[in-house]
Amino acid sequence: MQRRTALKLTLAAAVLLAVGKPYDLWAAPQNVSSGSLRVWSVAAGGYVMTDKVTKTADDWRRQLTPEQYHVTREKGTERAYTGKDWNNHADGVYRCVCCGQDLFDSRTKFESGTGWPSYTEPVAAENIATAEDRGFFMTRTEVLCSRCDAHLGHVFPDGPKPTGLRYCMNSAAMVFIPRGEIDK
Ligand SMILES: [Zn+2]
Repeated sequence: MQRRTALKLTLAAAVLLAVGKPYDLWAAPQNVSSGSLRVWSVAAGGYVMTDKVTKTADDWRRQLTPEQYHVTREKGTERAYTGKDWNNHADGVYRCVCCGQDLFDSRTKFESGTGWPSYTEPVAAENIATAEDRGFFMTRTEVLCSRCDAHLGHVFPDGPKPTGLRYCMNSAAMVFIPRGEIDK
């Protein structure tokens, strides 16, 4: 009886080892160089590898205007209808004001009536990050740049088709690049 139990335990251990192996291999970052980030590039028309951008508060302050700094690095919100892009109907791409990463395409921009530039989706899921925001007595989903962690705005589940999402962004967090100048 004891021998049989021992055999069962040995078999169970063997199964666990065999099952565990693929996961161990899968988890090993063998083909991924550390710090690399896979994001969509509109200019390249495909995914590219890039690195995270990390700067000190002083560096960001030197690079940005006070409003850009407040929105992107202090999670601020510009007043509705005051930004440069809520009523921008030009064809092009909106990039991160901090690191230049492509964020939104004008083809997904829509009239939300909110006074903030609004989109149904980012250029690619990889180009943004989201986080739970429990400020102002409500829970919202914060949207950040995946490359430099700039605060961009929030996403709400009340947008139009095809995604049903409303990415409510701050003009101050983005730079608009006309379609013809994307490659330059
Ligand atoms: Zn960025």
